Amino acid sequence: MTTTYAVLSEGLEKSYGDVHALRGLDLAVPYGAVCGLLGPNGAGKTTAVRVLATLTAPTGGRALVAGHDVTREPVVVRRAIGVTGQYASVDGDLTGRENLRLFARLAGLRGAAGRSRADELLERFALGGAADRVASTWSGGMKRRLDLAAGLINRPRVLFLDEPTTGLDPAAREHIWTAVRELADEGTAVLLTTQYLEEADRLADDIVVVDGGRAVAGGTPAELKARIGARAEVTVTDRAALAGAAVVLDQLTGGSPVVDEGRLTVGVTVLDGDLTLPRIIRALDSAGIPLTDAALRPPTLDEVFLRLTRVRTATITEHAKENAA
Ligand code: ATP
Repeated sequence: MTTTYAVLSEGLEKSYGDVHALRGLDLAVPYGAVCGLLGPNGAGKTTAVRVLATLTAPTGGRALVAGHDVTREPVVVRRAIGVTGQYASVDGDLTGRENLRLFARLAGLRGAAGRSRADELLERFALGGAADRVASTWSGGMKRRLDLAAGLINRPRVLFLDEPTTGLDPAAREHIWTAVRELADEGTAVLLTTQYLEEADRLADDIVVVDGGRAVAGGTPAELKARIGARAEVTVTDRAALAGAAVVLDQLTGGSPVVDEGRLTVGVTVLDGDLTLPRIIRALDSAGIPLTDAALRPPTLDEVFLRLTRVRTATITEHAKENAA
């Protein structure tokens, strides 16, 4: 395997007894990029991060992180990475500054070097004003920033972010996103797991969709969206018309229309949007359902995700049926 990537895995496997959490995961994350790892619950995302961060050993395959083998050189890998989780690892009884100085000592930065690294990170994450208050008095967003700062204490070349903004309000989330983007722009490789597709859409240069312990699709957010076509969306005049419009779209396209009651819209993903949208408009007109708007839009990442993981679930189900027959 070449070592030009920050994270490179081939056929990575991890089994817990009969449970195959990873079944041959291939990943390639270059330096200076954010890679979003997306997948439904139980897909293997956290296991992948744990294996790559040397917190648990793989049972098969191979992975290099910062050019070093996670199984044979875990200590070197650990020195090159930062890991921050969704549960802030800060100690609430210590001040922000004390927390970071503690992490600095743990990372081997002693004396003035540790103190100045802690101060630098407090400034970078706009935490200087609260630095000498105990962290238990801080807001959730501030604690999460401190957690991220702690993960950066050793200037990692590879950063693992496990659901970094879960539970944060939009302003606090924006703050974290800006910081992560800056880190990637400075050359750090970031492997991000997230439940928020909006987060992956905003941050990730590349997305790997994981399902059943394998990568089932990958590409830039735009490439993944293009793969499933466009979203035909109609806007009706009132709520009463929504259900009827959804039935018409379902019959015409065989898709699963998504109804947005707030915006009075019904949308469905279609591969041949230019042909299908006029047919939808004619069918709704025949059904006596008046429209205020009809448009073709790029699909949201949520739709891509649902489509990709649903297709896979269907394939697994078909496979099971075939096996049973
Ligand atoms: P979520 O989005 O719910 O966090 P995930 O994609 O991170 O899910 P993992 O936590 O990696 O998924 O779990 C993958 C599979 O491995 C699941 O079936 C899970 O139950 C199983 N698993 C994970 N850790 C262990 C463990 N320590 N012992 C046994 N099984 C485990």
